[in-house]
Amino acid sequence: MAASLAFEGVTKRYESTEALSGIDLAIEPGSFVALVGASGSGKSTLLKTINRLVEPTQGRVLLDGKDVAASDPTAMRRSTGYVFQRIGLFPHMSVGENIAIGPRLTGERMGEERIGELLTLVDLDPAMASRLPDALSGGQQQRVGVARALAGDPSLLLMDEPFGALDPVTRDALGVRVRELHESLDLTTIMVTHDMAEALILADRVLVMDGGRIVADETPQALANGKGGEVAQALVSVPRHQAERLKELEA
Ligand code: ADP
Repeated sequence: MAASLAFEGVTKRYESTEALSGIDLAIEPGSFVALVGASGSGKSTLLKTINRLVEPTQGRVLLDGKDVAASDPTAMRRSTGYVFQRIGLFPHMSVGENIAIGPRLTGERMGEERIGELLTLVDLDPAMASRLPDALSGGQQQRVGVARALAGDPSLLLMDEPFGALDPVTRDALGVRVRELHESLDLTTIMVTHDMAEALILADRVLVMDGGRIVADETPQALANGKGGEVAQALVSVPRHQAERLKELEA
């Protein structure tokens, strides 16, 4: 069952910066939401308040109606899949051990069969379980990162710039696969990206952040049709100009 999320007046202050300024937001089960915005706009901080890597200074985050501050962080992180920005596999552990690490932290042993199943989900050969991460390409490593995030059967998948380090072709293929998994595994997915094209293609709902606030909350269709205001449209203009330039070259 996909999870629901709600943010109520969520503010995060660091000494001299307000990273988040009173975020109010509700996310329906089954949504694929992209958080887009310039570097430093608060995307990553907002994502991390969900799995308590960041504790809000004020306000609360509700996962399926329950305040995450009152939940057991280990159990909650296990049921909330998290794909790291820099892949973050442990280099001295095999691919299989990396995938099984979440459940292991809660005292469970994951069988070879389940590890193979998870590798298959992300289009990798189950035989890769015994390899070390170094023996895999960047794209394969991030596929393992996605398999690891799915290991606890999450209802919520959080991704922080998941494809940023990958080449464009790999990036596109993995994005499509993640969107398929979002549907087939009935997930709620929140993806941080600075790439508006990726957000428009993969998400159902695009939230644009600027200076710790959400300044646009639109569907990809609405953004493509000029809605969402100045900050959002400045981001949309990048892929739009690229598409126009390509069209000109075709002529
Ligand atoms: P984004 O993900 O959009 O690049 P972040 O959420 O990482 O933005 O950061 C938002 C703001 O909060 C930035 O100004 C950043 O410098 C600041 N910030 C984030 N984490 C910390 C921290 N641990 N200590 C101090 N300031 C931080």
